[in-house]
Amino acid sequence: MIEIDRITKTYNGVKAVDAVTMTVETGTITVIVGTSGSGKTTLLRMINRLEEPTSGEVRINGVSTLATKPHLLRRRIGYAIQGHGLFPHHTVARNIGAVPRLLDWPKDKIEARVDELLTLFSMDPAQFRDRYPAELSGGQQQRVGVARALASRPDLLLMDEPFGALDPIIRARAQDDLRRIQKALGSTIMLVTHDMEEAIRLGDRVAVMDGGKLVQHGTPAEIIAQPATDFVANMVGEVERPLRLLSLIPLCDLVEDGDAPGAALPADASLRDALAACLWTGRSAVPVERDGDVVGRVTFDAIRARAELRA
Ligand code: ADP
Ligand code: MG
Repeated sequence: MIEIDRITKTYNGVKAVDAVTMTVETGTITVIVGTSGSGKTTLLRMINRLEEPTSGEVRINGVSTLATKPHLLRRRIGYAIQGHGLFPHHTVARNIGAVPRLLDWPKDKIEARVDELLTLFSMDPAQFRDRYPAELSGGQQQRVGVARALASRPDLLLMDEPFGALDPIIRARAQDDLRRIQKALGSTIMLVTHDMEEAIRLGDRVAVMDGGKLVQHGTPAEIIAQPATDFVANMVGEVERPLRLLSLIPLCDLVEDGDAPGAALPADASLRDALAACLWTGRSAVPVERDGDVVGRVTFDAIRARAELRA
């Protein structure tokens, strides 16, 4: 568990981060979202002590980060930034193994970890281990950057706009990958973004910053359904709210008995996917399947009713 306790950073008399308090549960993703200059990067950098707080403290599993020397702390906290920050003259394997090497892991354990992570990120170790960053696509470089940050099994992974440099289609894939890998490894992640859509897609919890203050901290559904301030409501975007809400609800929530024409959608697809399928193919309902068997249908009317009810 990460406890952030009234942490504050003042630059030239101005509070860049103003008494932020929040708790991050182990094994979850917390996304910190806000406009440019709202203090997101400063908050993140105070957690691994790249910036020293003016006041307040951070505790990791009950122990203050002030009790550990900054360079030792940073070996326990992964840090991934936009543009990956890979060492250009080191191979992929050497890049990923950088922190385990600092921690004096034995060579065979480092090699096994590198291969495990490459495999997890859908990159064949035999093909990619010995390449240099310039020999990778942008998406592959980004994955190696995240693999490196996770290599030593850190207590916490901090990510500052990690997908900012990726084009929208790769970005969606990168987000899905991160979700899958975080679940597989049980990692604790704090990720910064200015994109509310990304926050809602990725976060178990979303923390909204405005002018250095934490203005709301809750589940994506809470942020969408009950924005705490006009600023949060604006970020969520009035027009998109019903759609964003639908993207959080699985089909199995609304499935009913009955037939429907055309291709089935899996029960864990979202109502937003089903709405898109209805609109795209002109159907008034879509079949829902689980493990290859059709288990019922979801109707366009039911989706619309749910969007109006909760939006
Ligand atoms: P964000 O990541 O949300 O865009 P930052 O944390 O980078 O915001 O910055 C928050 C505020 O603190 C901004 O007004 C910024 O200009 C200021 N700031 C950040 N770093 C410094 C610094 N080293 N010296 C002075 N002001 C800073
Ligand atoms: Mg920033």
